[in-house]
Amino acid sequence: MDFELSKEQKDIVKAAKEFAEGEFPDRAEEFDRDESFDEAIFKNAAELGFVGIWIKEEYGGAGMGILENCLIFEEFTVVDPGIAIAVLASCFGAEVIQAFGSEEQKKRYLPPLVKGEAVMGSALTEPDAGSDLAGATSTTAIREGDEYIINGSKMFITNGDRANYLLCFVQTDPDHPNRHERHSMIMVETDRKGFEASHLTGKLGIRASDTAELSFNNVRVPCTNLIGESGNGFIESMHLFNLNRIGVAAQAVGIARSALEESIKHVKKRFAFGAPLSSFQAIQFKIADMFTWIQAGRNLVYEAAWRVDQGTIDHKLIAAAKSFCGQMAVKCADMALQMHGGYGYLAEYKVQRLYRDAKITELYEGTTEIEKIIMARNLLT
Ligand SMILES: Cc1cc2nc3c(=O)[nH]c(=O)nc-3n(C[C@H](O)[C@H](O)[C@H](O)COP(=O)(O)OP(=O)(O)OC[C@H]3O[C@@H](n4cnc5c(N)ncnc54)[C@H](O)[C@@H]3O)c2cc1C
Repeated sequence: MDFELSKEQKDIVKAAKEFAEGEFPDRAEEFDRDESFDEAIFKNAAELGFVGIWIKEEYGGAGMGILENCLIFEEFTVVDPGIAIAVLASCFGAEVIQAFGSEEQKKRYLPPLVKGEAVMGSALTEPDAGSDLAGATSTTAIREGDEYIINGSKMFITNGDRANYLLCFVQTDPDHPNRHERHSMIMVETDRKGFEASHLTGKLGIRASDTAELSFNNVRVPCTNLIGESGNGFIESMHLFNLNRIGVAAQAVGIARSALEESIKHVKKRFAFGAPLSSFQAIQFKIADMFTWIQAGRNLVYEAAWRVDQGTIDHKLIAAAKSFCGQMAVKCADMALQMHGGYGYLAEYKVQRLYRDAKITELYEGTTEIEKIIMARNLLT
């Protein structure tokens, strides 16, 4: 067993860190305040090969792994979690195209994402269907001749208002006796008639990332937009979640690491009772705990990602990484704010933003509770 990253992986970490430190800090507060984003940052990141690094070379990517994607995610997130998501989730759903799409679909959809010429998202959640996707998703895609006609709505969709195309989880066979075979994944170009997206404002954190509510009113798409087999949507969505949950866990590690770095700087220079905060054991224990949890979380991320890259999707290990790291990020951001005292409560201190950004890692791509259910199911049956 070798715990060292390879030379190539270390170079990726270095390049990602340099890029994020060069491009994000000047804009992070503005994007957070205004709930905005500058597409130029995404385009620059894509030009340097950071977007969809795991996409195969024949489709324009670098043909690297989920582990390399996690390395970039952590470095970008340490500098700013919102911008990291806006940039790296720009190809959210490409995992399904690469694994289940036809050759023609891969050639059509993947290269523009890697080049920064198109943005993609994945629309699964609905106003009345979140954790219980298979049971409650009600958006329908009914086949008529060579087309599907889509009706329904989607909620909380990352890039919903920015994307050129969205991978949609829809019911194609609502009466199928097995609820896991009622759905399919269908690509919807966002310029189609009857499609509308409204950007959601007022999010707690990751405010540089676009989140939207979508409505589909008799949206017609050709049957060639079906990704994979009809009725295979649930399996494809699980593939999407498995790969992206590791990315969210890496994002959580990045938030926790940033919280630790900010805390170390602060407690060394802030004095109380005639001594630096860093001299008090209650502070030292927090720093030591944060360091330990971050190491543990990162090891979970690396192992889950490494196993995927070796061809094994370990559901319980991925769920453990997502659940542990999400909770850890929230806890570390809370401890960092506590160590900053009243200053941490102010917008001008980065820990305030980290405290707000951290919570999303316990919610999207499967809540902490859902991850625990997955682990328990795998361990007990
Ligand atoms: C900023 C943001 C971006 C998002 N991006 C996307 C996106 O791009 N695409 C997409 O499809 N979705 C997206 N989502 C949706 C996200 O995945 C869902 O919010 C999440 O899966 C939870 O679903 P829900 O909000 O409907 O909560 P619910 O399913 O209603 O759950 C509410 C609470 O009940 C708990 N709960 C539910 N069932 C159980 C159970 N059986 N046992 C114990 N507890 C349970 C949950 O853990 C949670 O705490 C995004 C959400 C946000 C906030």
